[in-house]
Amino acid sequence: MTCPYLAYLREGDNKSFDHERPFCGATESFVSPMQADLCNDRFDFHHTTHCSIYQEYERNTELETPIDRMVSPIDE
Ligand code: SF4
Repeated sequence: MTCPYLAYLREGDNKSFDHERPFCGATESFVSPMQADLCNDRFDFHHTTHCSIYQEYERNTELETPIDRMVSPIDE
């Protein structure tokens, strides 16, 4: 299984290429071919345990969701 934030794009982050390249949706930037091995869980890598960007993005997403659902007494 690959990282859910990995995509292959020709354009992004104000750059364009003549072929698709690995792009991280969490950082919204292209990643190096070496990093893409980790994103694709190749060799002994796994994105959930070896990518600090994934871990931080998931942690922030988990933290933001309950707060987004909360209604402030001031807003009522
Ligand atoms: S850099 Fe990390 S978060 Fe981004 S696509 Fe790769 S594994 Fe996923």
